[in-house]
Amino acid sequence: MHIHVRLGTLLLWLGCTDSTKNPRPQRSSGQWLATDLHVHSATGSNDTDGSTVDEQAEVARRRGLSLVVITDHSNSAGSMDCETLDVEDCPNQGPEFPAREEAAAASGSGLQVAVGVEISPVESLETTSVPTGHVGCIPRPGDPFAGVDLAITDRPTGSVPGGLGVEWCQAAGGLAVVNHPFSIAGWIAYDWSSDAYDALEVFNGGGRFDANDAQGVDAWLCDLASGRETIAVGGSDTHRASTETPPPELLDQALGFPTTWVWAASDDRDVILAALEAGQVVVGDPRSSLDVVVRDLEEAAGPGETLRTGEDWVEVEIDVQVPVSQMLLQVIEVREEDCVTDPRWTSGKAPEYTPSLLDEVALEAGEPTSVALSVSTPTTLVVRAWPSGAPGLLGDGVILAGAIQVVAEE
Ligand SMILES: [Zn+2]
Ligand SMILES: [Zn+2]
Repeated sequence: MHIHVRLGTLLLWLGCTDSTKNPRPQRSSGQWLATDLHVHSATGSNDTDGSTVDEQAEVARRRGLSLVVITDHSNSAGSMDCETLDVEDCPNQGPEFPAREEAAAASGSGLQVAVGVEISPVESLETTSVPTGHVGCIPRPGDPFAGVDLAITDRPTGSVPGGLGVEWCQAAGGLAVVNHPFSIAGWIAYDWSSDAYDALEVFNGGGRFDANDAQGVDAWLCDLASGRETIAVGGSDTHRASTETPPPELLDQALGFPTTWVWAASDDRDVILAALEAGQVVVGDPRSSLDVVVRDLEEAAGPGETLRTGEDWVEVEIDVQVPVSQMLLQVIEVREEDCVTDPRWTSGKAPEYTPSLLDEVALEAGEPTSVALSVSTPTTLVVRAWPSGAPGLLGDGVILAGAIQVVAEE
């Protein structure tokens, strides 16, 4: 079915072709820029340690990020002045996006600071087990939130299902991300009241990569299997700028851990956000790296892109490196039947996805590895570096690339 060639063989094989006569097609020019799409500040979140937008930006710059999105909680942005100062007691009064001025001032020197919001309703003040959802709302290109002064009125409690947050975000011009969809903290898990979201946060910084994140990956794969174009993203969810990376404690969240890399032609904010909304992403542990290119004789495509081909076979090239052992590189062909059960829409439970592997290669810690294979068309491919055992707590090294579609030329 497929040819799996390691680096040495690949070079020999490439050497046999006359590359001057028949240049290998390259994908659109760009580079992988590092972003963190889920960052809290004291300006609008009352559960931080006081970290300012400036302090978060300083750390982001030091860690080589090109973009961070400040996503403060809706329910504290507007309720900072209420009497008890306990966010759960205070009706939200808006306005959202309170960090816009600070973010503009903190941008520059290679870093863009954008402002979104994490829509954070609660179902009840009495119980913490009923999910509603936390919806990350990230600006699309063109600064859609400028002049948006709506408040997300997430009180009285119980009146805002997660799906309404998705709707609110999209109406305001944002990219709606279901954050930590299967969080172990029941009230911040998603209630699956709408499937209209644009993206799933498949890697949240709490607990590094954990079993709940793995459930998010399965949900993403089930979305792809049913023909949806859901984007996989990651976010640190950091509330403390000073947390070192990787985060030392289970409940710590370090800026940039995980990183969402975006394939962008420049570090202009709108160029990065356009690549993000197109799904041109790799999500993972910042110590790992992954790149995937699919090509026929004429064109090439990367994560989030579509290759239209008249060929029966296309070539896939993968470069990967992980910092730990016991990891596998997996090339997954997304198939409808591999989403074995998907009870999200009835019970809210996580789906079960059994991946069809076109290739699987054991990775060595710290060892750059190149893999090439041919796959038959049409296909939808997902490539990831994945633990060889079941993902538990504090999983290190996990990284995955946005889906690549290979379709028949019209
Ligand atoms: Zn959250
Ligand atoms: Zn958050």
